Amino acid sequence: MIFATQIHPHDVRDEGAAAVARNISELAACPVVGAEISTLEERHPYPHGELPHNPRRNVVVTHARHETPLEIPTGLGFRPVLSEEAISGSDYVAQISQAGQEVGLSVIPWIKALNIELEGDWQQACVVTAGGRVVGNWLCPSKPSTEYYVRSYVRYIVSRYSPRAVLVDRLRYPDWSGEQVDPSSLFTCFCPDCEALMASYGIDTSHVRASLKRLGDSFIAGTDATTIAHDDQLRLWMKFRQDRITRLAQIIQDEIGAMTTVWLNLWPPSFAPWMGQDYSSLGRVCHGAKHFPYHKLGGGADLSGLVRRLAGMGVESPERVFRSVMDLLELPYSLSLAEFEEHGLPVDYVQHETANAVRIFKATPIYTGVQIWDIPASEIEAATEAAASGGASGFFFYCYGWATLDALAEVGRIARRQ
Ligand SMILES: [Zn+2]
Repeated sequence: MIFATQIHPHDVRDEGAAAVARNISELAACPVVGAEISTLEERHPYPHGELPHNPRRNVVVTHARHETPLEIPTGLGFRPVLSEEAISGSDYVAQISQAGQEVGLSVIPWIKALNIELEGDWQQACVVTAGGRVVGNWLCPSKPSTEYYVRSYVRYIVSRYSPRAVLVDRLRYPDWSGEQVDPSSLFTCFCPDCEALMASYGIDTSHVRASLKRLGDSFIAGTDATTIAHDDQLRLWMKFRQDRITRLAQIIQDEIGAMTTVWLNLWPPSFAPWMGQDYSSLGRVCHGAKHFPYHKLGGGADLSGLVRRLAGMGVESPERVFRSVMDLLELPYSLSLAEFEEHGLPVDYVQHETANAVRIFKATPIYTGVQIWDIPASEIEAATEAAASGGASGFFFYCYGWATLDALAEVGRIARRQ
């Protein structure tokens, strides 16, 4: 059983490496910690609340910058943007790794494959929506320059830290979150390279564009979207996206899989196909995966934010839009949006998603992300038990900086009992 948690750069910079290492090792009793190498456009904690034990700040807003020193080959046309600390040579991952050694903590790089703030000619490198908008900071998985970047990047990270494992996140297409909630970001990539590749798949891109428009309209109108979602061409488009992501996962595995353990960070199975993540093929090209059925959020990102944004685009009630989204995701819960916003999905969701992930991944281990912020401490145990009964091979308690010290102590109590 793996017991892990995840940290953001400001945790270590604000609290000090020794304090963070001690809290994770002694209070939360987690021997593994995923350290975020590049941040996201994100409010900490997400989507609301205050950092409970940060001595300097109540809220931190990050950009999608690289937070540790990085050498990337030139000639790509684009470059990741480094934070001031990274430019100055400061490496918080090295600091927490050193402090972690003294308390038996294993620090693993938590990297983002395709989502990073970019400078240079990034417009040519990023994904494009069905409506023709370039989504900044998100590399198109189909471009040769992306493949070269990802190969160089993972090799560099492994050579820099020699970690026992890496957690590969953002190996997928964009969701609706970011600086603003934007549902159109869900429908990519229609760049010239992808359009040409799709044609070779037998995909009629005008048909897919029209179907995606109908799908979006159906959400906004709060009507049943499942028939549209089963359109043959739309399914072929989803399969194309999944193949592009699995191909890149294979490339990562080929590049570093002999040197370290490669874990993927995946959306829960009900959402994953819409993000380009196909569990059945990904299970064959990694050593394991963490999925994150954070039940209070209804998945990994802010489901309520998506529903309210969709409802705001039309005239329908958010309740009908919520029902339409839940039906599309085939989530077997009859609760209302009001109930969801008050309580989240039932803890059963953690078991439901974990069991599906384990079934599809077959022999490859699944680790379950357990929400430990914005949740009563008593529910942490229930969620952990739900993940265990779903067949999880371990737990990633998410996350250190957003959780109260009481919640971390509860994690420690659960971990010590195993
Ligand atoms: Zn593309």
